[in-house]
Amino acid sequence: MEGTLKVGVLALQGAFIEHIHKLRELGVQCGEVRLPQDLQGIDGLIIPGGESTTIGKLMASFDLMEPIRRFADRNAVWGTCAGMILLAKRIEQGQPVLSLMNIAVERNAFGRQIDSFEESLPVAVLQGGEACPFPGVFIRAPRLLEVSSPAQVIARLADGTAVAAVEGKWLATAFHPELSRDLRFHQYFMEMVRS
Ligand code: GLN
Repeated sequence: MEGTLKVGVLALQGAFIEHIHKLRELGVQCGEVRLPQDLQGIDGLIIPGGESTTIGKLMASFDLMEPIRRFADRNAVWGTCAGMILLAKRIEQGQPVLSLMNIAVERNAFGRQIDSFEESLPVAVLQGGEACPFPGVFIRAPRLLEVSSPAQVIARLADGTAVAAVEGKWLATAFHPELSRDLRFHQYFMEMVRS
């Protein structure tokens, strides 16, 4: 059934190959998105982790900002880490972003690279629910400062920090599900693509 759907992964910079591997594991057809025409024929888009300033500048210079916003009007989009920053309506410093989701983010909220960490996250919307925590891999990750309706928090660290949100067909995770062995976030995104 997944064979009929195609998901694009923005492939300008960052951890896009890892998402492609996960989608292939699920038997989902996928393609790399570098130019506006690459958005044709795809049913969902993943914006990977990397450096949000670099990805944003490249998106602007490849004339991808408006085409991705139009794509997101009708289709599922998921941003991981830097991708979450690019989806946010509010970030502290000016940088080119898509400004889609009703969320405010703080970049590098957990310190420097050396402070990267892993934490198990209870996520009710995933298969298995809170009883089966998801391995969250955080690498110079942002955090959610504010999540306003219709956006909703779907995952928090044990200290209460919000680290994933959903708004209609848009998903944002501060961590990297493509770097863990757990496929459930990719499965969850595929449900959004299908709906
Ligand atoms: N620190 C990066 C940024 O601010 C995000 C890091 C990541 O995607 N792993 O863009």
